[in-house]
Amino acid sequence: MKLIIHRGTKEIGGSCVELRSEKTRIIIDLGMPLVNAQNEPFDSKLLEGKSIPELIDSRVLPKVSGLYAGEEKGVDAVLISHPHQDHYGLLRYINPEIPVYMSRGARALIEASDIFIPTKANLRNVITFKMWELFIINDLVITPWLVDHSGFDAAAFLIEGEGKRILYSGDFRGHGRKRILFENMISHPIKGIDYLLLEGSMLGRGENQYQDERAVEDKMVSMFGDKQNIAFVFCSSQNIDRIVSVYRAVKRTRQTLVIDLYTAYILDRLKDISDKLPQYWWPDIRVFYFWGHRKILKDNGLGSFVGKCVSSRIYKEEISRCKRNVVMISKYNPAFMKLIGYLGDLTGALGIYSMWEGYLEQSDFRKPLQRQGIEFETIHTSGHAPERDLERLVKAFNPKCVVPIHTFQPQTYPSLFPNVHILNDGEEFVL
Ligand SMILES: [Zn+2]
Repeated sequence: MKLIIHRGTKEIGGSCVELRSEKTRIIIDLGMPLVNAQNEPFDSKLLEGKSIPELIDSRVLPKVSGLYAGEEKGVDAVLISHPHQDHYGLLRYINPEIPVYMSRGARALIEASDIFIPTKANLRNVITFKMWELFIINDLVITPWLVDHSGFDAAAFLIEGEGKRILYSGDFRGHGRKRILFENMISHPIKGIDYLLLEGSMLGRGENQYQDERAVEDKMVSMFGDKQNIAFVFCSSQNIDRIVSVYRAVKRTRQTLVIDLYTAYILDRLKDISDKLPQYWWPDIRVFYFWGHRKILKDNGLGSFVGKCVSSRIYKEEISRCKRNVVMISKYNPAFMKLIGYLGDLTGALGIYSMWEGYLEQSDFRKPLQRQGIEFETIHTSGHAPERDLERLVKAFNPKCVVPIHTFQPQTYPSLFPNVHILNDGEEFVL
């Protein structure tokens, strides 16, 4: 068996891993890069109007023979670990004959976001798997393991073939709403792992400001409990754990949660996978219609969904009247700025930044909002395991070899774990 990490040995994002047996070639994840060759933020506009050969030449697409549309199919399957763009974002370029395996939740979330984003995955030949149920691709046996991560319905993959057992960790943590999954993995580790491909996003980033999702929720409770004006929570509507944390904090403080149509639609698409996710028709949730979301939904034949939300619709006048009782999931954009222009006095209003702080380096939107009287605070916990949890996992699994992936710090692995083998992008490693 051969392992080739086409991208991801020295960076976070753009993951693409190949496993090749005598009879089979599979690709695990095909992500959009987060950084370019200079380690600056990757600009997805670079994809516009470019052919596949051009994108391979400019190293945006990893050079993988038999993977892309327009060439002979040479790959048996693509596996997607979870619905984050840096793991699936280049799927639209693959040969449509290649089956793509992912969880039901990943499929629902990718299909839902495709409606709203320009860099669409255009899913075609999808096969959904169930967690912990193995599936077979020629001579490889694959078992997906549900893991705790900020990406919904995320999997680690156990891949067995030619007498080897390989575990691809995907992205994971042990401090989210599904932390029990991580603790179960530690107490009942998968035995006999030869190679562990281990993510290390948190290495070099220091400690989490809030140690887990529960701490995030509790801090929000303390802030919502005595707020004097509206609260805006800036978070990703695809970070479902976080949406649940915000909702729970809203409920505990008897506030009303205002979501937009985009968030309402994402949550609605996931209702068959989990009936515990907050939905637009729940009594303490209201939906604000931004024109852009409504147009996109209608243009995609989803006018009936917009119609269904009407019973929960809230207008700007009502938000303005009830500011003290409202918590709003927000995104910074011109439509949002227009809305806050209607809301009148925002003295003492709360702005809660609930995403990775690295995004603020790209555009810090807090200043224009602070000028309106909004007080900012960051309340966030990472989607990734910190160093000590990575160490716990490696200790429990005791793999013969640890291969760094999805990290800017591969060189720190040998000081943390035994039997580390650092690869370069594109290097062929015989297992
Ligand atoms: Zn992720």
